Amino acid sequence: MRSSVALAVAAAIAGSCGDDGPEAARAIELHAPVARATAIPAPAIAPAARPQLDGRDFPDKVLALTWDDGPDRHTLELARYLHDQRVRGTFFVVRAWVDGVSADPGAGDGVFSTGFAALPILGDLVRLGHRLGNHTGNHVLLTAVAPSEAARQLRENQAAIAPFVGSGPRMFRAPGGAWGAAASAAIAEDADLREAWGPFRWDLDGKDWEGSRWCRSDAPATECEAGAPGGERRVKPSVVAARYLAQIERARHGIVLLHDRVGHVGSRYAVDVARALVPALRARGYVFAAPRLHFQTPAPAAGPFAPKAPAADGAAHGDLNGDGHADRCDRSARGVVCALATPAGLTSESLWLDRDDPGASAIVDASSIALEDLDGDGRADLCAPAGADRVCARAP
Ligand SMILES: [Zn+2]
Repeated sequence: MRSSVALAVAAAIAGSCGDDGPEAARAIELHAPVARATAIPAPAIAPAARPQLDGRDFPDKVLALTWDDGPDRHTLELARYLHDQRVRGTFFVVRAWVDGVSADPGAGDGVFSTGFAALPILGDLVRLGHRLGNHTGNHVLLTAVAPSEAARQLRENQAAIAPFVGSGPRMFRAPGGAWGAAASAAIAEDADLREAWGPFRWDLDGKDWEGSRWCRSDAPATECEAGAPGGERRVKPSVVAARYLAQIERARHGIVLLHDRVGHVGSRYAVDVARALVPALRARGYVFAAPRLHFQTPAPAAGPFAPKAPAADGAAHGDLNGDGHADRCDRSARGVVCALATPAGLTSESLWLDRDDPGASAIVDASSIALEDLDGDGRADLCAPAGADRVCARAP
């Protein structure tokens, strides 16, 4: 029988999705200079890994809520709850968990019958307004497998979710945040993966997965409850939510890492954490967006450019993040800048389309711009006139 301490140590060694564990440390390679007595050709410099994306530059009060490792049995309940709250989440999904292949699969009933191969609900998640991201086919640590396998894990999973992603952004996140130059080079050789957004890291992590497994607390009488596997106690979901909230209040913005397949207990825990966290965030004026605040590459769209109500100020107004409130975009010397609506007014502006992005000039230099929902996903896209038709950049 293993104690909770032994479990904690084992988990720390194994790493986990939200853990900056030894996998992440291995991704950092140091190249110390070596003194040479004689001149020899300089060694080839290993290419640096493509940097992971995060939300440090988000405007204050803007959060991207992301859930990893599902879908699981209660993911659809979570998705419906978020939809009712007008929160568009991002789910980094796994196709199938496989014993001996998947990193940190947990243990207990049903851990190998999750993933969208067993729970085919990706279409439901999209219909509820959520985004899908790629979290590898089998939740493998990309620094622990051959580069060709890393690329295969991402490529095959991307192909499986592509019909559901549709015109949405292709996004990926490395399990455990484990990312390095070798995996990066393998991705760069793949035409489809090269253009995808990612890998996405995170800025805010209240360790929901850990809280579901055991209770580390200075106040166990009030913060712990029964329910963890093996008869262990766990952190109450409301306490985990309070830990996330405290972190978020310190940072004021960023990408939040949550899991809808938590530890050994499945996704019921995720639903309970979300039900405590989302209303608390909303009460404090936070708004929710994609993990990258940027339009996709502009492309021609059929139909005339006919904004419903052209703004006198030349700016475009529309609901970029699907929360029912009108956001604002405008042209600047840098490109298109946008601000999201919060209960206290608009956030600060950030650059959503760089003048130097491919195809951006067709919008940046057009006579006017407008925000309208092209694809019916509840989020307004950015359009400009182009001859008899228009050119549009879809919101993430
Ligand atoms: Zn993960």
